Amino acid sequence: MDFRLSEEQLMVRDMVREFAQREMAPVVPALERRGEYPAGIVKRLAELGLLGMTIPETYGGTAFDTVSICLVMEEIARACASTAVTVSVHNSASAAPIVKFGSAIQKQRYLAAMARGDIIGGFALTEPGCGSDAASMAARAVRQKDKYLLNGTKSWITNVHIGGVYVLMAVTDPGAGRRGISAFLVEPSMPGFSFGKDEDKMGLRSSVTGMINLTDCEVPAENLLGEEGMGLRVAFSTLDGGRIGIAAQSVGIAQAAFEEARRYALSRRAFGQTLASLQAVRFMLADMAMELDAARLLMLRAASLKDRAVKGASRDFSREASMAKLYASEMSNRVAYKAVQIHGGYGYSKEYNVERYYRDSRVTTIYEGASEIQRLIIARKLLAS
Ligand SMILES: Cc1cc2nc3c(=O)[nH]c(=O)nc-3n(C[C@H](O)[C@H](O)[C@H](O)COP(=O)(O)OP(=O)(O)OC[C@H]3O[C@@H](n4cnc5c(N)ncnc54)[C@H](O)[C@@H]3O)c2cc1C
Repeated sequence: MDFRLSEEQLMVRDMVREFAQREMAPVVPALERRGEYPAGIVKRLAELGLLGMTIPETYGGTAFDTVSICLVMEEIARACASTAVTVSVHNSASAAPIVKFGSAIQKQRYLAAMARGDIIGGFALTEPGCGSDAASMAARAVRQKDKYLLNGTKSWITNVHIGGVYVLMAVTDPGAGRRGISAFLVEPSMPGFSFGKDEDKMGLRSSVTGMINLTDCEVPAENLLGEEGMGLRVAFSTLDGGRIGIAAQSVGIAQAAFEEARRYALSRRAFGQTLASLQAVRFMLADMAMELDAARLLMLRAASLKDRAVKGASRDFSREASMAKLYASEMSNRVAYKAVQIHGGYGYSKEYNVERYYRDSRVTTIYEGASEIQRLIIARKLLAS
Protein backbone atom coordinates (compact mmCIF):
# COMPACT_ATOMS: atom_id res chain seq x y z
CA MET A 1 0.00 0.00 0.00
CA ASP A 2 1.38 3.38 -1.07
CA PHE A 3 -0.10 6.56 0.42
CA ARG A 4 2.09 8.91 -1.63
CA LEU A 5 0.67 11.25 -4.26
CA SER A 6 2.46 11.36 -7.63
CA GLU A 7 4.69 14.29 -8.63
CA GLU A 8 1.96 15.54 -11.01
CA GLN A 9 -0.74 15.32 -8.35
CA LEU A 10 1.42 17.25 -5.87
CA MET A 11 2.20 19.87 -8.52
CA VAL A 12 -1.50 20.41 -9.32
CA ARG A 13 -2.41 20.59 -5.61
CA ASP A 14 0.35 23.11 -4.83
CA MET A 15 -0.51 25.26 -7.86
CA VAL A 16 -4.18 25.48 -6.87
CA ARG A 17 -3.37 25.95 -3.16
CA GLU A 18 -1.10 28.86 -3.98
CA PHE A 19 -3.68 30.44 -6.31
CA ALA A 20 -6.60 29.92 -3.90
CA GLN A 21 -4.80 31.33 -0.88
CA ARG A 22 -3.30 34.28 -2.79
CA GLU A 23 -6.17 35.32 -5.09
CA MET A 24 -9.33 33.86 -3.58
CA ALA A 25 -9.10 33.78 0.23
CA PRO A 26 -8.62 37.57 0.69
CA VAL A 27 -11.69 38.54 -1.40
CA VAL A 28 -14.10 35.72 -0.61
CA PRO A 29 -15.50 36.99 2.76
CA ALA A 30 -16.72 40.26 1.20
CA LEU A 31 -18.11 38.52 -1.92
CA GLU A 32 -19.96 36.05 0.29
CA ARG A 33 -21.44 38.78 2.47
CA ARG A 34 -22.76 40.49 -0.67
CA GLY A 35 -24.00 37.15 -2.05
CA GLU A 36 -22.02 37.88 -5.21
CA TYR A 37 -21.10 35.24 -7.79
CA PRO A 38 -17.28 35.20 -8.12
CA ALA A 39 -17.18 35.69 -11.92
CA GLY A 40 -13.57 36.92 -11.94
CA ILE A 41 -12.35 33.95 -9.89
CA VAL A 42 -14.18 31.44 -12.12
CA LYS A 43 -12.60 33.08 -15.19
CA ARG A 44 -9.13 32.69 -13.63
CA LEU A 45 -9.89 29.06 -12.79
CA ALA A 46 -10.80 28.50 -16.45
CA GLU A 47 -7.44 29.99 -17.47
CA LEU A 48 -5.74 27.50 -15.13
CA GLY A 49 -7.54 24.63 -16.90
CA LEU A 50 -9.76 23.86 -13.91
CA LEU A 51 -13.04 24.05 -15.84
CA GLY A 52 -11.88 21.23 -18.09
CA MET A 53 -10.73 18.73 -15.46
CA THR A 54 -13.09 15.98 -16.66
CA ILE A 55 -12.75 16.87 -20.36
CA PRO A 56 -10.33 15.01 -22.69
CA GLU A 57 -7.36 16.94 -24.07
CA THR A 58 -8.73 16.55 -27.63
CA TYR A 59 -11.50 18.98 -26.62
CA GLY A 60 -9.11 21.36 -24.85
CA GLY A 61 -9.60 19.88 -21.37
CA THR A 62 -6.96 18.96 -18.83
CA ALA A 63 -8.31 15.41 -18.28
CA PHE A 64 -7.16 15.13 -14.65
CA ASP A 65 -7.48 11.84 -12.79
CA THR A 66 -10.08 11.76 -10.00
CA VAL A 67 -7.45 11.99 -7.26
CA SER A 68 -6.14 15.25 -8.77
CA ILE A 69 -9.70 16.59 -9.11
CA CYS A 70 -10.26 15.89 -5.40
CA LEU A 71 -7.05 17.70 -4.46
CA VAL A 72 -8.14 20.68 -6.58
CA MET A 73 -11.67 20.72 -5.13
CA GLU A 74 -10.31 20.52 -1.58
CA GLU A 75 -8.06 23.55 -2.14
CA ILE A 76 -10.80 25.59 -3.83
CA ALA A 77 -13.30 24.74 -1.05
CA ARG A 78 -10.73 25.62 1.61
CA ALA A 79 -10.80 29.16 0.22
CA CYS A 80 -14.42 29.32 -1.01
CA ALA A 81 -17.04 26.57 -0.79
CA SER A 82 -19.37 28.50 -3.14
CA THR A 83 -16.78 28.50 -5.91
CA ALA A 84 -16.14 24.82 -5.21
CA VAL A 85 -19.76 23.83 -5.83
CA THR A 86 -19.90 25.94 -9.01
CA VAL A 87 -16.78 24.23 -10.35
CA SER A 88 -17.77 20.78 -9.08
CA VAL A 89 -21.19 20.81 -10.77
CA HIS A 90 -19.67 22.15 -14.01
CA ASN A 91 -16.93 19.49 -14.16
CA SER A 92 -18.46 16.43 -12.53
CA ALA A 93 -22.20 16.78 -13.02
CA SER A 94 -22.30 18.44 -16.44
CA ALA A 95 -19.14 17.93 -18.51
CA ALA A 96 -18.50 14.39 -17.20
CA PRO A 97 -21.86 12.90 -18.35
CA ILE A 98 -21.44 14.58 -21.76
CA VAL A 99 -18.00 12.92 -22.03
CA LYS A 100 -19.41 9.56 -20.92
CA PHE A 101 -22.77 9.44 -22.71
CA GLY A 102 -22.60 12.19 -25.36
CA SER A 103 -22.63 11.75 -29.15
CA ALA A 104 -19.73 13.03 -31.27
CA ILE A 105 -21.82 16.07 -32.25
CA GLN A 106 -22.73 16.85 -28.62
CA LYS A 107 -19.10 16.58 -27.53
CA GLN A 108 -18.02 18.84 -30.37
CA ARG A 109 -20.69 21.39 -29.57
CA TYR A 110 -20.19 21.69 -25.80
CA LEU A 111 -16.92 20.33 -24.45
CA ALA A 112 -14.34 22.75 -25.88
CA ALA A 113 -16.47 25.74 -24.86
CA MET A 114 -16.94 24.25 -21.39
CA ALA A 115 -13.20 23.67 -20.97
CA ARG A 116 -12.58 27.34 -21.87
CA GLY A 117 -15.28 28.44 -19.41
CA ASP A 118 -17.31 30.03 -22.23
CA ILE A 119 -20.15 27.68 -21.30
CA ILE A 120 -20.81 26.86 -17.63
CA GLY A 121 -22.66 23.58 -17.12
CA GLY A 122 -25.43 22.55 -14.75
CA PHE A 123 -27.31 19.41 -13.72
CA ALA A 124 -31.09 19.43 -13.29
CA LEU A 125 -32.66 16.44 -11.55
CA THR A 126 -34.43 17.86 -8.48
CA GLU A 127 -38.00 19.20 -8.65
CA PRO A 128 -40.17 21.02 -6.12
CA GLY A 129 -41.97 17.72 -5.39
CA CYS A 130 -38.99 15.34 -5.38
CA GLY A 131 -35.30 15.25 -4.51
CA SER A 132 -34.15 12.00 -2.92
CA ASP A 133 -36.92 10.11 -4.72
CA ALA A 134 -35.76 11.29 -8.15
CA ALA A 135 -37.65 8.56 -10.01
CA SER A 136 -40.97 10.18 -9.06
CA MET A 137 -40.20 13.30 -11.12
CA ALA A 138 -43.05 15.09 -12.88
CA ALA A 139 -41.22 16.78 -15.79
CA ARG A 140 -42.35 15.35 -19.13
CA ALA A 141 -40.73 15.16 -22.56
CA VAL A 142 -42.80 14.27 -25.63
CA ARG A 143 -41.18 13.55 -28.99
CA GLN A 144 -42.54 15.57 -31.92
CA LYS A 145 -40.73 14.79 -35.18
CA ASP A 146 -37.19 16.16 -34.84
CA LYS A 147 -37.61 17.67 -31.38
CA TYR A 148 -38.90 17.01 -27.87
CA LEU A 149 -41.33 19.28 -26.05
CA LEU A 150 -40.42 19.52 -22.36
CA ASN A 151 -42.76 20.64 -19.59
CA GLY A 152 -42.06 20.89 -15.88
CA THR A 153 -40.06 22.66 -13.19
CA LYS A 154 -36.58 21.89 -11.88
CA SER A 155 -35.62 23.37 -8.52
CA TRP A 156 -32.48 23.88 -6.45
CA ILE A 157 -30.36 23.96 -9.60
CA THR A 158 -26.77 25.12 -9.09
CA ASN A 159 -25.42 27.47 -11.80
CA VAL A 160 -28.78 28.89 -12.90
CA HIS A 161 -28.48 32.17 -14.88
CA ILE A 162 -24.74 31.67 -15.49
CA GLY A 163 -25.24 28.26 -17.14
CA GLY A 164 -25.14 27.64 -20.90
CA VAL A 165 -26.18 23.98 -20.82
CA TYR A 166 -27.99 21.75 -18.33
CA VAL A 167 -28.01 17.96 -18.19
CA LEU A 168 -31.73 17.70 -17.47
CA MET A 169 -33.84 14.64 -16.72
CA ALA A 170 -37.51 14.25 -17.77
CA VAL A 171 -40.00 11.40 -18.20
CA THR A 172 -40.35 10.19 -21.81
CA ASP A 173 -42.39 7.03 -21.10
CA PRO A 174 -44.67 7.42 -18.04
CA GLY A 175 -45.61 3.72 -18.16
CA ALA A 176 -42.02 2.48 -17.92
CA GLY A 177 -41.24 3.61 -14.36
CA ARG A 178 -37.51 4.07 -13.69
CA ARG A 179 -36.73 3.10 -17.30
CA GLY A 180 -39.05 5.80 -18.62
CA ILE A 181 -36.77 8.72 -17.77
CA SER A 182 -34.38 10.30 -20.29
CA ALA A 183 -31.57 12.86 -20.12
CA PHE A 184 -31.37 15.95 -22.34
CA LEU A 185 -28.90 18.73 -22.99
CA VAL A 186 -31.01 21.84 -22.54
CA GLU A 187 -29.90 25.41 -23.24
CA PRO A 188 -31.46 28.61 -21.83
CA SER A 189 -31.79 29.96 -25.40
CA MET A 190 -34.23 27.19 -26.36
CA PRO A 191 -37.85 28.40 -26.82
CA GLY A 192 -39.95 27.72 -23.70
CA PHE A 193 -37.00 27.79 -21.25
CA SER A 194 -36.99 30.33 -18.41
CA PHE A 195 -35.38 30.75 -15.02
CA GLY A 196 -37.64 30.95 -11.95
CA LYS A 197 -36.98 32.26 -8.47
CA ASP A 198 -33.55 32.05 -6.87
CA GLU A 199 -33.04 30.44 -3.48
CA ASP A 200 -32.04 32.67 -0.55
CA LYS A 201 -29.66 30.20 1.07
CA MET A 202 -28.14 29.75 4.54
CA GLY A 203 -24.68 29.21 3.06
CA LEU A 204 -22.86 28.94 -0.28
CA ARG A 205 -24.15 32.45 -0.81
CA SER A 206 -21.78 33.17 -3.69
CA SER A 207 -23.13 30.26 -5.72
CA VAL A 208 -26.31 30.73 -7.73
CA THR A 209 -29.12 28.26 -7.07
CA GLY A 210 -32.65 28.43 -8.40
CA MET A 211 -35.44 27.16 -10.58
CA ILE A 212 -35.77 26.26 -14.25
CA ASN A 213 -39.24 26.41 -15.83
CA LEU A 214 -39.99 24.46 -18.99
CA THR A 215 -43.14 25.37 -20.92
CA ASP A 216 -43.33 23.45 -24.19
CA CYS A 217 -39.57 23.90 -24.23
CA GLU A 218 -38.27 22.87 -27.67
CA VAL A 219 -35.23 20.63 -27.38
CA PRO A 220 -33.80 19.25 -30.66
CA ALA A 221 -33.92 15.43 -30.78
CA GLU A 222 -30.15 15.41 -31.27
CA ASN A 223 -29.86 16.82 -27.72
CA LEU A 224 -31.10 13.58 -26.16
CA LEU A 225 -28.13 12.44 -24.01
CA GLY A 226 -27.62 8.69 -24.41
CA GLU A 227 -30.72 6.78 -25.39
CA GLU A 228 -34.36 7.17 -24.37
CA GLY A 229 -34.92 5.53 -20.98
CA MET A 230 -31.29 5.96 -19.85
CA GLY A 231 -31.94 9.11 -17.82
CA LEU A 232 -31.63 7.62 -14.35
CA ARG A 233 -28.50 5.71 -15.37
CA VAL A 234 -26.98 8.99 -16.56
CA ALA A 235 -28.07 10.71 -13.33
CA PHE A 236 -26.92 8.04 -10.88
CA SER A 237 -23.57 7.36 -12.51
CA THR A 238 -23.00 11.14 -12.51
CA LEU A 239 -23.90 11.37 -8.83
CA ASP A 240 -21.50 8.52 -7.94
CA GLY A 241 -18.62 10.61 -9.27
CA GLY A 242 -20.04 13.86 -7.94
CA ARG A 243 -20.23 12.46 -4.42
CA ILE A 244 -16.46 12.07 -4.28
CA GLY A 245 -16.31 15.77 -5.22
CA ILE A 246 -18.64 16.68 -2.33
CA ALA A 247 -16.37 14.67 -0.01
CA ALA A 248 -13.48 16.83 -1.26
CA GLN A 249 -15.51 20.00 -0.74
CA SER A 250 -16.31 18.88 2.82
CA VAL A 251 -12.66 18.12 3.57
CA GLY A 252 -11.66 21.56 2.22
CA ILE A 253 -14.18 23.42 4.41
CA ALA A 254 -13.14 21.37 7.47
CA GLN A 255 -9.43 21.96 6.79
CA ALA A 256 -10.03 25.71 6.73
CA ALA A 257 -12.10 25.53 9.94
CA PHE A 258 -9.44 23.45 11.70
CA GLU A 259 -6.65 25.84 10.72
CA GLU A 260 -8.57 28.90 11.97
CA ALA A 261 -9.42 27.12 15.23
CA ARG A 262 -5.80 26.06 15.77
CA ARG A 263 -4.52 29.61 15.12
CA TYR A 264 -7.13 31.13 17.41
CA ALA A 265 -6.47 28.62 20.20
CA LEU A 266 -2.77 29.48 20.10
CA SER A 267 -3.38 33.26 20.38
CA ARG A 268 -6.46 33.71 22.61
CA ARG A 269 -5.76 33.82 26.36
CA ALA A 270 -8.07 32.78 29.20
CA PHE A 271 -7.29 32.06 32.87
CA GLY A 272 -3.68 33.17 32.38
CA GLN A 273 -2.89 30.79 29.53
CA THR A 274 -3.69 30.27 25.85
CA LEU A 275 -6.81 28.29 24.91
CA ALA A 276 -4.41 25.80 23.31
CA SER A 277 -3.05 25.00 26.79
CA LEU A 278 -6.47 23.88 28.02
CA GLN A 279 -6.92 20.14 27.75
CA ALA A 280 -10.55 20.41 26.62
CA VAL A 281 -9.50 22.56 23.64
CA ARG A 282 -6.49 20.32 22.88
CA PHE A 283 -8.83 17.32 22.76
CA MET A 284 -11.17 19.12 20.37
CA LEU A 285 -8.25 19.97 18.06
CA ALA A 286 -6.96 16.38 18.22
CA ASP A 287 -10.37 14.98 17.27
CA MET A 288 -10.76 17.51 14.46
CA ALA A 289 -7.36 16.61 12.96
CA MET A 290 -7.99 12.87 13.28
CA GLU A 291 -11.43 13.04 11.64
CA LEU A 292 -10.07 15.22 8.85
CA ASP A 293 -7.38 12.63 8.11
CA ALA A 294 -9.92 9.80 8.13
CA ALA A 295 -12.23 11.66 5.73
CA ARG A 296 -9.36 12.56 3.41
CA LEU A 297 -8.26 8.92 3.27
CA LEU A 298 -11.81 7.73 2.48
CA MET A 299 -12.01 10.39 -0.24
CA LEU A 300 -8.66 9.38 -1.78
CA ARG A 301 -9.59 5.68 -1.65
CA ALA A 302 -12.86 6.33 -3.49
CA ALA A 303 -11.09 8.58 -6.01
CA SER A 304 -8.36 6.09 -6.74
CA LEU A 305 -10.92 3.26 -7.08
CA LYS A 306 -12.81 5.42 -9.60
CA ASP A 307 -9.57 6.02 -11.53
CA ARG A 308 -8.91 2.28 -11.62
CA ALA A 309 -12.52 1.58 -12.64
CA VAL A 310 -12.11 3.94 -15.61
CA LYS A 311 -9.09 1.86 -16.68
CA GLY A 312 -11.19 -1.29 -16.26
CA ALA A 313 -8.99 -2.59 -13.43
CA SER A 314 -11.43 -2.23 -10.58
CA ARG A 315 -14.99 -2.95 -9.55
CA ASP A 316 -17.88 -0.58 -8.98
CA PHE A 317 -16.87 2.19 -6.54
CA SER A 318 -20.29 3.48 -5.45
CA ARG A 319 -20.05 2.01 -1.90
CA GLU A 320 -16.72 3.76 -1.32
CA ALA A 321 -17.98 7.00 -2.92
CA SER A 322 -21.00 6.98 -0.58
CA MET A 323 -18.82 6.21 2.45
CA ALA A 324 -16.48 9.08 1.58
CA LYS A 325 -19.36 11.52 1.00
CA LEU A 326 -21.24 10.47 4.14
CA TYR A 327 -18.27 10.54 6.50
CA ALA A 328 -16.61 13.66 5.08
CA SER A 329 -19.83 15.71 5.08
CA GLU A 330 -20.78 14.77 8.64
CA MET A 331 -17.16 15.27 9.75
CA SER A 332 -17.16 18.73 8.15
CA ASN A 333 -20.19 19.71 10.22
CA ARG A 334 -18.59 18.42 13.44
CA VAL A 335 -15.29 20.19 12.73
CA ALA A 336 -16.99 23.49 11.82
CA TYR A 337 -19.11 23.23 15.00
CA LYS A 338 -15.99 22.77 17.15
CA ALA A 339 -14.18 25.60 15.33
CA VAL A 340 -17.04 27.95 16.27
CA GLN A 341 -16.97 26.59 19.86
CA ILE A 342 -13.23 27.28 20.18
CA HIS A 343 -13.79 30.85 18.95
CA GLY A 344 -16.43 31.43 21.66
CA GLY A 345 -18.56 34.54 21.03
CA TYR A 346 -16.28 35.63 18.16
CA GLY A 347 -17.19 32.42 16.34
CA TYR A 348 -20.74 33.72 16.19
CA SER A 349 -19.62 36.89 14.41
CA LYS A 350 -19.41 37.42 10.66
CA GLU A 351 -16.01 39.04 11.35
CA TYR A 352 -14.57 35.53 11.62
CA ASN A 353 -14.45 32.96 8.81
CA VAL A 354 -15.57 30.08 11.04
CA GLU A 355 -19.13 31.44 10.99
CA ARG A 356 -19.12 30.98 7.17
CA TYR A 357 -17.60 27.50 7.38
CA TYR A 358 -20.34 26.49 9.83
CA ARG A 359 -23.05 27.62 7.38
CA ASP A 360 -21.29 26.29 4.27
CA SER A 361 -20.67 22.83 5.73
CA ARG A 362 -24.36 22.35 6.57
CA VAL A 363 -25.48 21.58 3.02
CA THR A 364 -22.88 18.88 2.43
CA THR A 365 -24.96 16.27 4.27
CA ILE A 366 -27.99 17.16 2.13
CA TYR A 367 -27.11 17.58 -1.54
CA GLU A 368 -25.92 14.95 -4.01
CA GLY A 369 -27.82 12.48 -1.82
CA ALA A 370 -28.63 13.16 1.85
CA SER A 371 -26.74 11.19 4.52
CA GLU A 372 -29.68 8.82 4.89
CA ILE A 373 -29.55 8.00 1.16
CA GLN A 374 -25.79 7.31 1.44
CA ARG A 375 -26.51 4.91 4.32
CA LEU A 376 -29.12 3.15 2.17
CA ILE A 377 -26.63 2.76 -0.69
CA ILE A 378 -23.87 1.47 1.60
CA ALA A 379 -26.23 -0.99 3.32
CA ARG A 380 -27.60 -2.22 -0.03
CA LYS A 381 -24.07 -2.92 -1.25
CA LEU A 382 -23.08 -4.60 2.04
CA LEU A 383 -26.11 -6.88 2.06
CA ALA A 384 -26.09 -7.85 -1.63
CA SER A 385 -25.07 -11.47 -1.99
C1 LIG B 1 -27.40 24.41 -2.25
C2 LIG B 1 -28.04 23.31 -3.01
C3 LIG B 1 -27.65 23.06 -4.32
C4 LIG B 1 -28.27 22.04 -5.06
N1 LIG B 1 -27.91 21.84 -6.37
C5 LIG B 1 -28.60 20.93 -7.13
C6 LIG B 1 -28.34 20.81 -8.53
O1 LIG B 1 -27.45 21.45 -9.10
N2 LIG B 1 -29.10 19.93 -9.25
C7 LIG B 1 -30.08 19.17 -8.69
O2 LIG B 1 -30.71 18.40 -9.38
N3 LIG B 1 -30.34 19.27 -7.34
C8 LIG B 1 -29.63 20.14 -6.56
N4 LIG B 1 -29.91 20.26 -5.22
C9 LIG B 1 -30.98 19.46 -4.64
C10 LIG B 1 -30.49 18.37 -3.73
O3 LIG B 1 -29.83 17.38 -4.45
C11 LIG B 1 -31.68 17.86 -2.93
O4 LIG B 1 -32.01 18.86 -1.99
C12 LIG B 1 -31.39 16.55 -2.22
O5 LIG B 1 -31.30 15.50 -3.15
C13 LIG B 1 -32.49 16.19 -1.20
O6 LIG B 1 -33.74 16.25 -1.79
P1 LIG B 1 -34.92 17.10 -1.09
O7 LIG B 1 -34.37 18.43 -0.74
O8 LIG B 1 -36.09 17.04 -1.99
O9 LIG B 1 -35.22 16.34 0.24
P2 LIG B 1 -36.25 15.12 0.44
O10 LIG B 1 -36.05 14.10 -0.62
O11 LIG B 1 -37.60 15.66 0.65
O12 LIG B 1 -35.69 14.52 1.80
C14 LIG B 1 -35.74 15.29 3.02
C15 LIG B 1 -35.02 14.50 4.08
O13 LIG B 1 -35.74 13.28 4.32
C16 LIG B 1 -34.84 12.23 4.59
N5 LIG B 1 -35.06 11.16 3.62
C17 LIG B 1 -35.47 11.25 2.34
N6 LIG B 1 -35.58 10.04 1.78
C18 LIG B 1 -35.23 9.15 2.70
C19 LIG B 1 -35.13 7.71 2.74
N7 LIG B 1 -35.42 6.97 1.67
N8 LIG B 1 -34.73 7.14 3.90
C20 LIG B 1 -34.43 7.88 4.99
N9 LIG B 1 -34.50 9.23 5.01
C21 LIG B 1 -34.88 9.85 3.89
C22 LIG B 1 -33.42 12.83 4.51
O14 LIG B 1 -33.00 13.21 5.81
C23 LIG B 1 -33.61 14.06 3.67
O15 LIG B 1 -32.65 15.06 3.93
C24 LIG B 1 -29.28 21.24 -4.46
C25 LIG B 1 -29.64 21.48 -3.12
C26 LIG B 1 -29.05 22.49 -2.41
C27 LIG B 1 -29.49 22.73 -0.99
